[in-house]
Amino acid sequence: MTNSFRTLDDVDVKGKRVLVRVDLNVPMDSGKVTDATRLERIAPTITEISDKGGKVILLAHFGRPKGRDVKDSLKPVAEALTHVIKKPVAFVDDCIGEAATKAVTALKDGDILCLENTRFHPGEEKNDPAFVAELAKLGDIWVNDAFSAAHRAHASTEGLGHKLPAYAGRTMQAELDALGKALDAPTKPVIAIVGGAKVSSKIDLLENLVTKVDALVIGGGMANTFLHAQGVKVGKSLCEKDLAPTALRIIDKAEASGCAIILPVDAVVAFHFAANTPSHAYGLDAIPDEGMILDVGPQSIERINAAIDDAATLVWNGPVGAFEMTPFDRGTVAGAKHAAARTKAKKLISVAGGGDTVAALNHAGVADDFSYISTAGGAFLEWMEGKPLPGVEVLKK
Ligand code: AMP
Repeated sequence: MTNSFRTLDDVDVKGKRVLVRVDLNVPMDSGKVTDATRLERIAPTITEISDKGGKVILLAHFGRPKGRDVKDSLKPVAEALTHVIKKPVAFVDDCIGEAATKAVTALKDGDILCLENTRFHPGEEKNDPAFVAELAKLGDIWVNDAFSAAHRAHASTEGLGHKLPAYAGRTMQAELDALGKALDAPTKPVIAIVGGAKVSSKIDLLENLVTKVDALVIGGGMANTFLHAQGVKVGKSLCEKDLAPTALRIIDKAEASGCAIILPVDAVVAFHFAANTPSHAYGLDAIPDEGMILDVGPQSIERINAAIDDAATLVWNGPVGAFEMTPFDRGTVAGAKHAAARTKAKKLISVAGGGDTVAALNHAGVADDFSYISTAGGAFLEWMEGKPLPGVEVLKK
């Protein structure tokens, strides 16, 4: 996939003003960055451009401000970035206009400047051509390194790509390469594991996956809707009964596409939605009326692991149980550990993403053993849905 879009290998950045769209949407508490993972991810792109003598001008949004709001300023994030990349990061409190122009003009080759939150201007989310033009005045080229924002056609994530020569940053490049190997041109057979709370949030995703993968494991609360649709009594489990026809349609589509659907064959059931509440594994014909399915059962875990063994590529989104509460993390942890071991043994290419999934894999202690973990939430899901991402489309040759 690398050949299909422009990267930093296709441009000499020396002396150029490089507008770099990054993801600075880090978790903060009382003005301090509490998790610098996203900053660490963009560090290679910034360092490379700076080391090659480009003038790095960082563009990013933070939060969802309605106009200028000091609590969503990128100033403390720029400070935190200084510590991560171990180079000074200057900051200016606007992303267009006189102050920004002055700060950019003052840059020497290799300097790094962070502009204030692009969303302080309504033109950002509207992708307003006048705002795009103001941003474009500040740069000679545009580098997009924010895959996590690529599902939005905003001024700094997409609009600039039509005004300036556009390139993928190294983080974007790595993400596109990894995702390309997982679904666009994967080593077959491909298995997907999809879990999470509800079918309703993942209909498009499931409909797309059944046409692309050889086997689809459905777990988590959403599996209950599928089981219900097939006549299984799921008691008081989370279940979107009105979506039974949708579940059946997805099963039919899978069959027509030659995709095996792997549903739980047993379930761990409790009577309260709470950690460490008493629970037992039941066969699907014996789910108690008052019970709640909170995890896949031991036989389902065996089944999932066997399916992982049959696969060369795995794409995973969503926990297969209520993993935040012990012992209902067992199915998710077992599957994650098994996939990690297969990956380490070089038998499996494993790609996972989406907010809760990353948390679940961290909880299982295997995040580093997967081939690739995407920290993008919405963009990862839209990619799994097979939708074109505007911020990626604009990088294509
Ligand atoms: P999602 O954001 O759609 O990926 O959903 C993730 C959430 O689904 C997590 O908070 C899990 O606790 C929850 N979940 C997974 N399995 C179940 C289940 N069987 N019953 C209720 N919630 C579940």
